[in-house]
Amino acid sequence: MSSRPQVRVPASPAQAPKVHTREASAATAAPATVTPMGWMHTARFLTTAAQLHHLPAMDTPEIAFVGRSNAGKSTCINTLTQKKQLAYASKKPGRTQHINLFALGKQGITDAVLADLPGYGYAAVAKMDKLRWQQVMANYLVSRENLTGIVMMCDPRHGLTELDDILLEVIRPRVEQGLKFLIILTKADKLTRAEQAKALSIARLQAGGGEVKLFSALKKQGVDEVAQLLWDWTHPAGGAPAPAQAAETSAAEPEALDE
Ligand code: GDP
Repeated sequence: MSSRPQVRVPASPAQAPKVHTREASAATAAPATVTPMGWMHTARFLTTAAQLHHLPAMDTPEIAFVGRSNAGKSTCINTLTQKKQLAYASKKPGRTQHINLFALGKQGITDAVLADLPGYGYAAVAKMDKLRWQQVMANYLVSRENLTGIVMMCDPRHGLTELDDILLEVIRPRVEQGLKFLIILTKADKLTRAEQAKALSIARLQAGGGEVKLFSALKKQGVDEVAQLLWDWTHPAGGAPAPAQAAETSAAEPEALDE
C-alpha cells in the first residue's frame, strides 16, 4: 500500500465573482510590435491569496508555476520577467504558502496572469501546514477556471520527485482535456551536453504529451523559448509577435546563483 500523502480534489470549480480585465481578447489587445520577451518584462504584482476563495475569479488566461522548493522556480520567473525581486515576493515571511498572481500585458492591459505557487516539499514546514498547502494547491490546479497552462520546475539532477508525481496525477485529467503543460529542467548549466540530452528524453516520457525545455538562468538558456511558448499558450488566436530583439534579452540583471 502506498504511504503517499493524499489530496482530495473538489468536484466543482471555486465560486467567486469574476474580474474582467479590460481587453476582450488578447490577440486584439496586443500591439503588433510586442515580443514575447518584452511582454514577459511587463510582469507586475497583482495580488496574493492564502486560500482559493480569496483569489479573484478572472477571465484572463492564467499560467501556474509549480515545483519543489529549491527547484529554481523563483530564479526562473525572475529571469523570464527581468524583475529581480518579483517571485521572491513569494518567499517573504507570511507569503510562503500563498498563491501570488502577477499580471502581464503592455500599457497596463492585463492579457495574461502568472500564478506563482510556492514550492512544496520544504522539510522545515510543519506537517499540518504541508497537508493544508497541498490541498489548496490541488484545489487550485483542479478548479481554477481560467487556468490555461502549468509550468513545472524540475532540477534535472534530482529528477521528478514523489510530490511532483502526485501533482502530475492531480492535473492529468485537465491536461488530457487540453490544459497546456511544460516541464522546465532548471539549472541546465550544471549538466554536460550528454546529461542534458538524457534528462530531456527522460522528462519527455514523464510529461505525458506536455513539452519539456532546458533552462539556465545563469547562461540564459531557454529564456526566449519559454517566453515564446507562454505567449503562444495565451495568444492562441494569432497576433504572432516579432522575434525577440537582442536589446530586450541582453538586459539581464545578474542573479546570485549557486555553482
Ligand atoms: P525555488 O525555491 O524553486 O524558488 O528556487 P530558487 O530560485 O530560489 O533557486 C534555488 C537555488 O538554485 C538558488 O541557490 C539559485 O541560485 C539556484 N539556481 C536557480 N537557477 C539556477 C540556474 O539556472 N543555474 C544555477 N547554477 N543555479 C541556479
